[in-house]
Amino acid sequence: MVTQKQERFRLDLLKWADENLRDFPWREPDRSLYEVFIAEFFLTQTPAENVSTVYPEFLERFPSLEAIDEASEDELVDTIKPLGFYNMRSNALKRIAAENETLPDTTKELVKLTRVGRYVTNATLCFARDEPLPVLDRNVERVYSRVFSDDWPQSSTEQLQFAERLVPKDRARLYNLTLLDFGAAICTPQPSCDECFANEYCTYYQDS
Ligand code: SF4
Repeated sequence: MVTQKQERFRLDLLKWADENLRDFPWREPDRSLYEVFIAEFFLTQTPAENVSTVYPEFLERFPSLEAIDEASEDELVDTIKPLGFYNMRSNALKRIAAENETLPDTTKELVKLTRVGRYVTNATLCFARDEPLPVLDRNVERVYSRVFSDDWPQSSTEQLQFAERLVPKDRARLYNLTLLDFGAAICTPQPSCDECFANEYCTYYQDS
């Protein structure tokens, strides 16, 4: 059950998407589960613009978990070095590839993979399969904690439940992608409240 304010925010956000949704190679239609997973795995600690520079070459050299399994760690590092954290990332990908012939496609299994947390799991399944899962990173937490600051819970479990209620079941992918972009472009740490569609009802703005 969503409140009137939550429903208004959802509709306004989806309208904002018409003009503002960003294009990235991993957002192209028909990307496979594996291709979306690779992008989300890199995006956890690296800006999208940087991931864009490495992503096409990575998929060309390593089009599957099998290809990662067969490659040497040096080959992996060579490709992902510009992203940073390359040892940690190559170790994790090698381990995932050694333990899985294909990428698991359930939240229960994905979340257990090495260095794959709730964010990567939900983002992968939502963006590749349109599953209505909450995609909660720091940007999205900031948006919700401002717009709904009266209701935003303290515990991470309750925050996830809060976010889950807001995901529209019929447009989960579009909604979550837009929320990420809105947090990156408008409701940033120094927010652009004057040009924000939510400034009439955002609690943070109204109280400031
Ligand atoms: S009004 Fe400001 S704080 Fe509120 S959602 Fe918009 S940008 Fe963020």
